[in-house]
Amino acid sequence: MRRPLVAGNWKMNLNLPQGRELVGGIRDGLAALGPAARNVETAVCPPAIYLFPLAEMLKGSEIRLGAQDVYYEPKGAFTGDLSAAMVAESGASYVILGHSERRHTIGHLEDDQMIHRKIRAALGGGLTPIICVGETLAERESGQTLDVLTFQLTAALVGLALETPERLVLAYEPVWAIGTGRNATPDQAQEAHGHLRGRLRELAGGLADGIRILYGGSMKPDNAGALLSQPDVDGGLIGGASLKADSFVGIIQAALAAPR
Ligand code: PEP
Repeated sequence: MRRPLVAGNWKMNLNLPQGRELVGGIRDGLAALGPAARNVETAVCPPAIYLFPLAEMLKGSEIRLGAQDVYYEPKGAFTGDLSAAMVAESGASYVILGHSERRHTIGHLEDDQMIHRKIRAALGGGLTPIICVGETLAERESGQTLDVLTFQLTAALVGLALETPERLVLAYEPVWAIGTGRNATPDQAQEAHGHLRGRLRELAGGLADGIRILYGGSMKPDNAGALLSQPDVDGGLIGGASLKADSFVGIIQAALAAPR
């Protein structure tokens, strides 16, 4: 069985006091759900500068931390960058890689090769990558969705030897659904996730059944239940709705209630 993961991507939002307040609210919300809350894994991915203080605050808690990026080199003259080992030193377990805001935004424009190198570096530095893949609206409308997913997933994982399924998380994030309020339908999500699982089987054999595939794109408490009830949807990567404890915990509650 795959334990669902609900991870919040704070992006470039909140200051440190607000981040602490949000983490405190999530912690209280999970405590109110009782021991069953452990059936869903929870993670927050704040701006990297807040990882150390939030890790301190989360000592002894089950809430995991993730970063939003790492560079692929282990050290050296790379002004402004952070290595996977530096991020891991903070206590973070995860790193989001391949997010559309890094693939498509001016100033980043990360290509599949760059993303692959970062995934390799994350694994080597002790972090579990949350690898985002997803089609643009134009690609969906021209019937290319599954081909895009195959290409991005294959480029991300080519040549990597995975030891355990827990060391990798995938996120299907249709670009047209991110931050738009327009989520994929449960059927659209299941089609994409089922396709990714099939391709994972070709790349990683039996490990594919243990690798979690999250859905991301305007997930909210009121649409989470239907998405998370799909057989290959193993949690959510949440942007906007992760910035408020109530809505984030509401999604975790939906994950707990979803039939698996
Ligand atoms: C994201 O950025 O990964 C995301 C899913 O954002 P939102 O939930 O705001 O669509």
